[in-house]
Amino acid sequence: MRSPDNALEVDQLTRIFDVSSPWLNRVLERKPKRYLRAVQDVTFTVGKGKCLALVGESGCGKSTVARLVTGLYAPTEGAVVFAPDRNGRPMEAQMIFQDPHASLNPRWRVGDIVAEPIREFKLRASEEETAERVAEVLQIVGLSADDARRYPHEFSGGQRQRISIARALASEPEFLVCDEPTSALDVSVQAQILNLMRRLQDELGLTYLFISHNLAVVRHMADRIAVMYLGRIVEEADTESLFSNPEHPYTRLLLATIPDVRAPNRDRALMGGEPPSPLDPPGGCAFHPRCPLASELCSREAPAMRMRADGGRVACHFTDQKA
Ligand code: SF4
Repeated sequence: MRSPDNALEVDQLTRIFDVSSPWLNRVLERKPKRYLRAVQDVTFTVGKGKCLALVGESGCGKSTVARLVTGLYAPTEGAVVFAPDRNGRPMEAQMIFQDPHASLNPRWRVGDIVAEPIREFKLRASEEETAERVAEVLQIVGLSADDARRYPHEFSGGQRQRISIARALASEPEFLVCDEPTSALDVSVQAQILNLMRRLQDELGLTYLFISHNLAVVRHMADRIAVMYLGRIVEEADTESLFSNPEHPYTRLLLATIPDVRAPNRDRALMGGEPPSPLDPPGGCAFHPRCPLASELCSREAPAMRMRADGGRVACHFTDQKA
């Protein structure tokens, strides 16, 4: 580890997917193999007890990073290194998914869903102790011990996300990867779940990697924010510094397009349309087809990452100019 204060260090992480057609189709249609660089040279750290948010539009690679960190995907290149946990073993991350409806087995009672990691990792000596732990985590997330007997469909969306959080907490993790945990919920329920997650972080000393497409959601959760575009981090800074002084033109556009119910179609117009396909990324700076500051240099040469004055970093040829 580079620092004993870090819970996670991610170094030059790259993940390439083979998205080629089946072999026979490729031979008949004379098509080459195709590769998708979902994540490219991504480097960041998360301090113990802190929350780092990865933010960007759909397809920017942030969910792939989440799956690389939790071990659901293996990296093509680069490293994911966790600090030792409180027992001296390598820290393991638990994941909370976007859609609690899809991630909870509808045929299992809530008690069995929450008990699954406890049983799998043999964390309690008996079924009685397992049931006690299930009751405890259900209460920690604001449900009741009796809810263990019910099925997921008997709960609202917000309550189902509480069940997902209870399951993630059951094995007493120190690190949670939260992949858009509130984006499938109504706005009023989103705030309750975010408040719950903040409370849990304080009470249990958790560290979060928080994935979201929405800067407004992460503002009150994250200590630091890393903005991703087409598989790369383009800017990273402390949350308040990023909001008060966004340097990258993409970060500025994300801030300008924080969802507004009064103008739902404003975002895409301001953004200059959809992001390019990661299968065929533009040369130079990948943001140049949508960037209001783009010059000929931007289409030719990718900008290097440089330090911001506040200890953050940004990758843009012209960061001193305001869009
Ligand atoms: Fe825009 Fe050029 Fe900066 Fe890329 S390098 S963000 S295209 S100004």
